[in-house]
Amino acid sequence: MVRIVMSTHASPRSAESGPASGRKRIKPHQLVIAIGCFMGVFTLVSGVLPLITGWHTEKTPSREVFDGIPGPLQVAFYTVIPAMLVWGAFAFADRVKNWERGAPDRRRTTSKNIKRDSAAGVMHSMIYFGFLVLLGVTTVLEIDHQMPVDLKFLHGRVYLAYSFIADLAGVVFLVGIIWAVVRRYVQRPYRIRIKTKPEHALILGTFFLVGVTGFFAEAFRIALFARPGYEKWSFIGYPLSQLFDGLSVDRLDFWHQVSWIAHVVSFLLFLAILPITMLRHMFTSPLNMYLKDRQRPKGAMKAMPNLTETSLETFGASVVEDFTWKQLLDTDACTMCGRCTSVCPAHATGKPLDPREIVLKTGEVMAASAAHGHVSPPIGTDGEITISSSSLFERITAEEVWSCTTCKACDEICPVNIEILDKILDMRRYLSLMESNFPGELGTAYRAMENQGNPWGINQGERGDWANDLDGVTVVSPGQPLTAEYLYWVGCAGSFDDKNKKVTQAMAKLLRRAGIDVAILGPSEMCTGDSARRSGNEYLFQMLAMPNIEMLDGMGVRKIIAQCPHCFNTLKNEYPQLGGNYEVIHHTQLLENLIDSGKLDVSRASLEERITYHDSCYLGRHNDVYLAPRKVVGSIKGLEVVEMQRNGTKGMCCGAGGARMWMEESIGTKVNDERALEALSTGASRVATACPFCYIMLDDGVKAAGVEEDQVKVADIAIHLLDAIEAGERALATQRAPLAPAAPSDN
Ligand code: SF4
Ligand code: SF4
Repeated sequence: MVRIVMSTHASPRSAESGPASGRKRIKPHQLVIAIGCFMGVFTLVSGVLPLITGWHTEKTPSREVFDGIPGPLQVAFYTVIPAMLVWGAFAFADRVKNWERGAPDRRRTTSKNIKRDSAAGVMHSMIYFGFLVLLGVTTVLEIDHQMPVDLKFLHGRVYLAYSFIADLAGVVFLVGIIWAVVRRYVQRPYRIRIKTKPEHALILGTFFLVGVTGFFAEAFRIALFARPGYEKWSFIGYPLSQLFDGLSVDRLDFWHQVSWIAHVVSFLLFLAILPITMLRHMFTSPLNMYLKDRQRPKGAMKAMPNLTETSLETFGASVVEDFTWKQLLDTDACTMCGRCTSVCPAHATGKPLDPREIVLKTGEVMAASAAHGHVSPPIGTDGEITISSSSLFERITAEEVWSCTTCKACDEICPVNIEILDKILDMRRYLSLMESNFPGELGTAYRAMENQGNPWGINQGERGDWANDLDGVTVVSPGQPLTAEYLYWVGCAGSFDDKNKKVTQAMAKLLRRAGIDVAILGPSEMCTGDSARRSGNEYLFQMLAMPNIEMLDGMGVRKIIAQCPHCFNTLKNEYPQLGGNYEVIHHTQLLENLIDSGKLDVSRASLEERITYHDSCYLGRHNDVYLAPRKVVGSIKGLEVVEMQRNGTKGMCCGAGGARMWMEESIGTKVNDERALEALSTGASRVATACPFCYIMLDDGVKAAGVEEDQVKVADIAIHLLDAIEAGERALATQRAPLAPAAPSDN
């Protein structure tokens, strides 16, 4: 594991930047230049050195570097290639300088990187590793060329294996290229089609030329040297050489030189376009995909200082420099594959948001505002677009930023670990805290959270009313130590929303059956602040979170059961940023534990129906909880569990996350309607949710499709489970009931 901190940037916008270090550190862009210069000098020296040493082996089978290539061409090779390497290093260093404009970001490397699209992964690997091996075999030949006679190793069996590996790599590489061409220009999936530019043809064409000319240069060389038998190990070059049987030695010599020159020129073209086109992702993507945040859990937003005490002058991101170096590296690492676009619920329903564009537009602003000279944008942009400053909002609109449901589907599917959601949330922080530029409806929710402690705007005194007719629910006083093992965190929806109050009541009944007393805070519980934070209003978030933490700590609370995945995520992953550390489990995890341990008896739970489970984004992608809810529904006898087409890590959002719950959805179709149709298409008579927002949204969506509750019942898992237990008990009671006496006959 490697720890990486790039901290060359000291933001003038921050009065809290750390003390300047007296030590001069080598900057990343200087390192790039040093590596490029080293490679250039190495190549140059490797051309000159053999002329001085004259080390040459007679051993066979082997081959000389530049066999059959005239001296002037060799000189050209050893001068132009080093020059290109040095130029490329300087051009690439300009890109790295752009990343250095970002704020510090502490990262570590991780070996964990899950590829979600295996076919595209195989294709990219064929091109990438095929190319690397080809570069490797060329380098090995060059190293052998420099060795004293006794140390030369590329002869005999080693040479035969070398020939075989080189041809194998060439085949793998070319097949990968042809696959990529077919995908982009024949199959043309939407996400690729809409972003295909001439640049892609140039890159694929260059690669194709490198591969094909390499094989032809090899075949002409083998034919020129009378096709020795050992060259059969070049299993492509050798049979190819047989095509030139009728040619004279002069013609073979000529065509060998032509194909060699074409090969070298195509490689030079590769070097020329590498730093200035999206081909750069050969370097940047592998670098990016193994960088992981050092401390922050997956579901947590970036920490911010206490806003009532900080001397920071600005919050969130409005200019390129407000992002971290990793966020800027992201823009150069994007492969433009569009997988993020294809899973974005906002994009799919016609909202003005495309996550890929967020990355690319950030890159465009970064490239156009580079103070150190021209840097090419991530991909060819429309010539009519002008960018005159480093403001992100030159290219990104507030409408795009507010369309996001924070579902994290884009981050989860990105094959190169680009963090798109963070960028959107950073911009929301700026819009909300610095500009008060947020949808008007949010203002109502903000006021309700501020004045009533919940976004529903209902009197806090009514928070515990759902438990009025229930036994076994204790409202604990915030002034007293908590004696129960767990505190049950109901959440605002479970306390005030009529549908979700039934979930809370069902959970209370299930816990009672399991012999667990429910301890709740009642009127003392305030909103965790999830909606405030995800809409960028960190002031309000801290205003809600800090008293909550103070109260929980004062009561000695250590273990919390959260009914809402948003509360679960905030309590578990974000309260530690403010000093509140608790062991938090979601109610579906608790149910799973109770069923597994036998404390909750589900042996009679039975429903002869079909059910489908809708993944909550904040339980699933933000916290990797996928199995617990499925195990709970799976414990019900007779219930057929079917998955929706988009499930698990690819599950579609209900549309309410990221405070979208409190905003109008007036553009395009409704996210919840689309998800509800997908749920209905399974033919299920029950839809299970594990989040109060999902419950509301899917229930509304199903009703909007004209389907009533007696046809398809949408409800939280707790309600379905209680239904099943009670149905099983009723069935048993019916079986045990004595037969009613037969009615007297009229006859
Ligand atoms: S951000 Fe990731 S998923 Fe989206 S286009 Fe770029 S590489 Fe592909
Ligand atoms: S988090 Fe979800 S809604 Fe937001 S950009 Fe990513 S995929 Fe789209």
